[in-house]
Amino acid sequence: MTPERVEGLQKLGIQTVADLIKHLPLRFEEHHGGVTIEEATAILGENDRSQDLVTIEGEVAQVRPIRGWKRSKARVEVLLEDDSGSLKINWFNQPWIAKKLHPDMHIRVHGSLSNYKGSVQMTNPRWEKVDGEACTATVEGGLCPVYPANEFISSTVIADMISEVLEGALPHIEDHFTEKERKNLDMPELREAYRMVHKPQEESESKEGRRRIAYDELYFLQLGVMMKRHHRQSMLRAPELRWDEKVRTRIEARIPFTLTNSQQKVIEEIGNDLTKTIPMNRLLQGDVGSGKTVVALHAMLMAVVGDAQAALMAPTELLAEQHYTTMVEMLEGSSVSVGLLTSSLGTKDRASLIDKVSNGEIDIVVGTHALLTSDVVFSNIAVSIVDEQHRFGVHQRATLRNKRDDDLTVPHTLVMTATPIPRTLSLTIFGDLDVSTITGLPPGRSPITTRLVQPEDTSKVYSYFSELVEKGQQGYVVVPLVEDTDSGMKAVLSHAESLEREYFQGKRVAFVHGRMKSEEREKTMAAFREGTIDVLVATTVIEVGVDVANATIMVIEHADRFGLAQLHQLRGRVGRGELPSVCALIASPTTNDAIERLNAIVETTDGFRIAERDLEIRGPGELFGSKQSGIAPFKSARLPRDLELLRLARRNAVTCIQNDPLLKHAELLRKRLLKKYGESLGLGDVA
Ligand code: ADP
Ligand code: MG
Repeated sequence: MTPERVEGLQKLGIQTVADLIKHLPLRFEEHHGGVTIEEATAILGENDRSQDLVTIEGEVAQVRPIRGWKRSKARVEVLLEDDSGSLKINWFNQPWIAKKLHPDMHIRVHGSLSNYKGSVQMTNPRWEKVDGEACTATVEGGLCPVYPANEFISSTVIADMISEVLEGALPHIEDHFTEKERKNLDMPELREAYRMVHKPQEESESKEGRRRIAYDELYFLQLGVMMKRHHRQSMLRAPELRWDEKVRTRIEARIPFTLTNSQQKVIEEIGNDLTKTIPMNRLLQGDVGSGKTVVALHAMLMAVVGDAQAALMAPTELLAEQHYTTMVEMLEGSSVSVGLLTSSLGTKDRASLIDKVSNGEIDIVVGTHALLTSDVVFSNIAVSIVDEQHRFGVHQRATLRNKRDDDLTVPHTLVMTATPIPRTLSLTIFGDLDVSTITGLPPGRSPITTRLVQPEDTSKVYSYFSELVEKGQQGYVVVPLVEDTDSGMKAVLSHAESLEREYFQGKRVAFVHGRMKSEEREKTMAAFREGTIDVLVATTVIEVGVDVANATIMVIEHADRFGLAQLHQLRGRVGRGELPSVCALIASPTTNDAIERLNAIVETTDGFRIAERDLEIRGPGELFGSKQSGIAPFKSARLPRDLELLRLARRNAVTCIQNDPLLKHAELLRKRLLKKYGESLGLGDVA
């Protein structure tokens, strides 16, 4: 085994024989086993493109890396020769291929043929160096499995390795289901399933094997989620709070506006949860600007009325600061004490604050992740709220604790998000959450007009901007960078300077970004809120939460650089008052994805539709949000394709946990579950 191959395997997450067996083929390909270039030309005939894939072996005669006029057009042009002729191959977007191939190398390419100006050629074929035999791992009918591979190790080499160990390994695979269970599921034994996916007698067998393996994957996650839910409901306890007319009236007196019906409804749902000792585990979804903060305030005040504490955790310092200001304003003149805890607090102030938190002098703490530091303990926390800009990460969050807590007492938890969770997802990692949704926006909002503007028309946008400023309105300019780089993209500091010079002379232009001291940033934000700053140039730090009703224009430079959800959040900073607002997206998008994103954001301001579009554009691969949740993505299950299988897994997992909450009677299942999800789902203290 060459070091290169070892690296290749490692990159695929393969370290043991078991990993190798779990590495499943993507598909099976039919091979027109090695044809010559002459035969290939005949196969293509008069067609522009061949239907079938062909495999050709030959010597590399020439390798030419060609730089495109932009990065995505870069390609490597290779001339392949055999005794019967020559064939041109183009690899787009894979510049590393030029380093791997050199003249006289013997390679095998596999792909479809096409006709380019009368000569036969291939585009982006799979390829491998010929140093052994061709695809020995073929199954019946000459089908060849194609495994996920990379630049260090080819599918063929992987297929050979699997082929070599499979037979010896299968007998060691133990099934965690009994024969009876398998019969009910109408699924094959686990070892048989692995045989079927790697070495199917016919293609349908590989599907049957895959179904079993995908089911297991979904089932384990459901089991984990259900086990956790059971544990929470039957073992954990949260403080019982009061929610009645008196409390309601007292809290509402603090809110400077009339709640919308939708806000009232979710407040009732939450209030109802808080009167129970089963810890609340609820997700509050509502579009940008829909008014989630006052809902959070309600929940927190319920804790305070019940002589307990509450915490609100925000994803950025800026947002924590803003929440803090909002709370302080709404609670002015009351006896409720509010504290702000972020990592930029000085040592002394921090010590004094956490002291007050732990002895109960502070009722409501607003903060960032700094709240999760182990020396922050509460005297009596009843409600913990997390304001998340993006949805995932629900499970890795540590819970806030009390000084003298046993492990079984926890606060009620509410997670707020502006990005709705699609149904398929809500069944998977979020299967343990109850969901409340705020629909619509509070009254008195005027619509936002969104326009895509070509970079050459930028000056028109800023001229319009300066007219608005002239009328006393304010606005934002968002750029991707803090400081100049050689990327040619605009940066906060220099852009603020040039805007002031070119369009806003005598006006007040300021900037904020994530690398600023938080005091300075807070000062600038406060000035912007008070209206003493006209133009605020910023990075995406202002993406969440910033709320200034007099800001009516937002310009986003290099808008194609931002994700869809991010653009939506950014745009949500305007359209917060009575005046109509404008959002100008400056970009000349080059990739399809970017074009689709920008079209979507221009077409609609409905966050729920944008979230759906976002998932469509990004595809199900990212849909699972595995990175943020710390949960490994599915290997063979695919959502929403396997939705039926997911439902089945869920039903069975519910029954299983009902009958045997700790899986005492299913030793192997339990062992595997803990190995797989023990850490990421925090099952350690459950089972
Ligand atoms: P988000 O859901 O994005 O967090 P916020 O809670 O920041 O939204 O609310 C956006 C703005 O709408 C705030 O200025 C808030 O005071 C205001 N708001 C919330 N609810 C109402 C309401 N029922 N009537 C009028 N204004 C409201
Ligand atoms: Mg908010």
